[in-house]
Amino acid sequence: MKKKKKILIAAALTVTALVVWIIISALLPGGVSNRKGRESAKVKSEAAENAASGKDVKKSGNKSGKDAKRSGKDEKESKTDEKSQENSEKKTENKVGTGESQDPSANAGSTSNTQQADQTPAQSKSGIVIVIDPGHQSRGDSNTEPVGPGSGKAKARVTGGTRGTTTGIYEYQLTMTMAGKIRDELTRRGYTVYLTRESNDVNISNAERAEFSNSKGADAYIRLHANGAGSSAANGAMTLYPTPNNAWVGNLSAASKSLSLDVLNSYCAATGMRNLGLQPRDDMTGFNYCKSPMTLIEFGFMTNPSDDSNMANASFQNRMAAGVADGIDTYFGR
Ligand SMILES: [Zn+2]
Repeated sequence: MKKKKKILIAAALTVTALVVWIIISALLPGGVSNRKGRESAKVKSEAAENAASGKDVKKSGNKSGKDAKRSGKDEKESKTDEKSQENSEKKTENKVGTGESQDPSANAGSTSNTQQADQTPAQSKSGIVIVIDPGHQSRGDSNTEPVGPGSGKAKARVTGGTRGTTTGIYEYQLTMTMAGKIRDELTRRGYTVYLTRESNDVNISNAERAEFSNSKGADAYIRLHANGAGSSAANGAMTLYPTPNNAWVGNLSAASKSLSLDVLNSYCAATGMRNLGLQPRDDMTGFNYCKSPMTLIEFGFMTNPSDDSNMANASFQNRMAAGVADGIDTYFGR
């Protein structure tokens, strides 16, 4: 009996030891591997955090750059931009995730992607070409040129224009001043801008000005003028455009009409000038050679004391320029 009891106790002890060993062996290696796992998870999450914070810095950097340049970007461009941003983020993540970058090209790649993302919007905005024609010049040229390609009808190459009855300023001076202001405003908004003339002492015909615009690949041709009338009471602004029946540019009538409408409405909104509406004209040499949507704005009447004085005022001129630029923005859908 005593022996049997001893055997039983020994067996129980053995079983207990076995159970304890099983429990310990189940816990111990598992514990170690779990702790290892936790540690490696911690390392990973730190790396991920670093990557994420790197990403955030990059994102906000790109974002502010993007925002500054955003006005007017279309859907397609913004998608391209985001794609480049995504690529550069991926590269950053890889670099941080693997510690020091082993591959210098990974870093270089990321940098060049970032630059690309920054450059894309500016490039796309400067893709819109505006040609501005400051009407007239210091001396008119009464030699003639055909009113349209191949036309038997001819008109003076370029006339002298009108003059402010109150200020004494010549129309060619006002249009030159305004061309500079509108160019600056449009350039600031990202357009590529050319002027048909840079000074008053030139001799460039109306047909030659339109052909200059064509040679620059203009997306819009904007002619600047001011009106004159026998009555000093006449005042206000208007824009001119070719009709659908125009033998040379009838196909550009609809686009030119909406450009004319956008420019006139924005100009009048910005300046408070009286809105005299749109005038259809097919006898304008400066239109008939043009190959892009076109408009001619008559800023106001230089023969009206109020219009004349306003148009000679520098801060009023800034509003005139902003108004024209707003109209161009509207036309190009920004
Ligand atoms: Zn004029």
